Amino acid sequence: MLLAALSLSACTTTAETSPPTETSAIDHFVSPIQGKEEGATGPDDRLRLSYAADKPAPSRSPASRALDMVLQLGDNTISVYRYRDPASGKSAFFDGDGNKLGQYLLRNPVPDGKPTSGFGRRYHPVLGYSRMHSGADWSAPTGTPIYAAADGVVTFAGTRSGGEGKQIVIDHGHGYQTSYSHESKFAKGIKAGVHVEQGQLIGYVGRTGLATGSHLHYEVSINGTKVDPRKVHFIREGRLEGADLARFEKYVKEDA
Ligand SMILES: [Zn+2]
Repeated sequence: MLLAALSLSACTTTAETSPPTETSAIDHFVSPIQGKEEGATGPDDRLRLSYAADKPAPSRSPASRALDMVLQLGDNTISVYRYRDPASGKSAFFDGDGNKLGQYLLRNPVPDGKPTSGFGRRYHPVLGYSRMHSGADWSAPTGTPIYAAADGVVTFAGTRSGGEGKQIVIDHGHGYQTSYSHESKFAKGIKAGVHVEQGQLIGYVGRTGLATGSHLHYEVSINGTKVDPRKVHFIREGRLEGADLARFEKYVKEDA
């Protein structure tokens, strides 16, 4: 079995030594950070791809020509199957439960930042009482670049009165949104309606709004519900259902 370990930002370097099939798989999940060659990842932000491409051909379903991978994301292990999406007729990536996997959401939109406050209930130093902290904080000096976690369309870029300060909201489709608060300024051309790509520079860390120090407050929401950014790995673009799911499950079992 072929093993390839890569950091999210260094994927282009790794890809050079990989067969073309792997390169396209890596490209599907992560794009390089704009203007960066390395250092974009946290300690556990590492994709470890274990390909089964060297499996004997008869063990693969000819209909799907699957390339299965095992992604190790920190402590999480996710099996990924390349499978023909019945909806589009095109090859796509699915996890073992039949969820169609889109892009990986970069977990650290401030590669040079330090994780300070995580998702959950905590004492708020400015308000003076305990409340839900609905995102993850990345501490960094004012002016530190912030990058888009995935491809999407900017739906808001302006100042909020609710304590967020200067904020950018990106809609990634399929019910996924990310937001970036307390910014000092936005990158050139960033405004509502603009399409951005994963790893694109969108703004700069600041301390606008309700903030004790310069940091990024980063939120991920799925269908309007805020979720722990560190627990979301992929944009799920839907799930196989009914007979399609049954067929997929049969295939996964046969391929195991
Ligand atoms: Zn925060």
